[in-house]
Amino acid sequence: MGFITCKFGGTSLADATCFQKVKKIILSNPERRYIVPSAPGKRTPEDKKITDLLYAWHTLVEQGLDAGQVQALIADRFLGISRDLGLKTDVKSILAEIESQCAKHREPDFLASRGEYISGILLAEFLGATFVDPADYVRFDDEGALDPATYEKLGERLRGDGLFVIPGFYGATPDGRIRTFSRGGSDVSGSIVARATGSRLYENWTDVSGFRMADPRLVPEARRIEEITYQELRELSYMGANVLHDEAIFPVREPGIPINIKNTNEPDNPGTLIVATRTAREPVCGIAGRTGFAMVNIEKALMNKERGFGRRVLAIFEENGISFEHLPTSIDTMSVIVREEELGPHGSVIVKQIERACSPDRVTIVNDLALIATVGQGMAGRVGVAATLFTALANAGVNVRVIDQGSSENNIIVGVASKDLKAAVQAIYRAFAS
Ligand code: ASP
Repeated sequence: MGFITCKFGGTSLADATCFQKVKKIILSNPERRYIVPSAPGKRTPEDKKITDLLYAWHTLVEQGLDAGQVQALIADRFLGISRDLGLKTDVKSILAEIESQCAKHREPDFLASRGEYISGILLAEFLGATFVDPADYVRFDDEGALDPATYEKLGERLRGDGLFVIPGFYGATPDGRIRTFSRGGSDVSGSIVARATGSRLYENWTDVSGFRMADPRLVPEARRIEEITYQELRELSYMGANVLHDEAIFPVREPGIPINIKNTNEPDNPGTLIVATRTAREPVCGIAGRTGFAMVNIEKALMNKERGFGRRVLAIFEENGISFEHLPTSIDTMSVIVREEELGPHGSVIVKQIERACSPDRVTIVNDLALIATVGQGMAGRVGVAATLFTALANAGVNVRVIDQGSSENNIIVGVASKDLKAAVQAIYRAFAS
């Protein structure tokens, strides 16, 4: 028998009824051994996430303001869950202890992590499981990167029978200070636990039944992706398919542990399986699009013969603290695609610096660009994929501003005007999914 690591997201642990559903799921398969909870999320669209409240608490403390109201909301949520489940954990004294410690921590990480911490204690009691505090085993180095020794230490601690609950989202620095991952980081914690325990599968339980081939807000009929590789997901998540934290695949990718995205409210739905390799029957597995890009176009005759031209251009972006997303080029033009929010006020400065350093014929900035990634391993080596894609866009009346295809041939990126995003994604989906 192999074991399964299960991570439950905030909406799956929003209240006592959710905790009961989660328990039923865990107990229905004895392979489910390692449980990684998030902090309680929203119960309704207007509700507050516990983690957001904890960040607010930190801000108030920092500014010397009264955090009483926020603390009361947090206490109310946890006391409610504990009471409704008939648990004995003394939530009040845990909260009092947190309050007594919070002023000592200048960074928000300590308070932010307490949602997962309390959620984990309650879930462990409810399941009769062993609680393991990640502060003692998940270690970051001084630069904030995960210390690889984590896997061995955590793996050792999680040996033995029974269920284990390991809260998500945080670990500690070498000097014992609590440190969190970035938002949504319990997904990364789950992946670390799966690797540390040599789990055969990492189930990531959330409130959707896996990934859809396109954002349902753009394509309501978009169907579920049954299987996708880590690499394909990288290409899609990069464009904003944000069901899973985009760093969550790294710990499990090396040992090849599959991730199954599952829905707590529909546990029998197979969801989406993320795997190392797959046999792709269809050319395209997903389409992701996002607005908010700008393109800096540099034109110069004979640029291709000028050594160091690209380096000089990119150095200017680097010096202004801007990272680039794509770099389409032609013989006499080079374009640098960046996020609009990063370019922001630097635009005119950058144009001037490029003019000074590279003596181009022309430099222009195009704003309001959307990028659309069409991704699929089945595209490689298949004739006619690009023709289908561009015919679909032409028939939808969408003008393509820029085209970029990675050398792996499993990704075609097109840039269109932001206003054309929806029409373009719909056209591409309908060309490949029907
Ligand atoms: N609770 C944290 C957040 O809201 C981490 C997580 O849920 O994964 O970002």
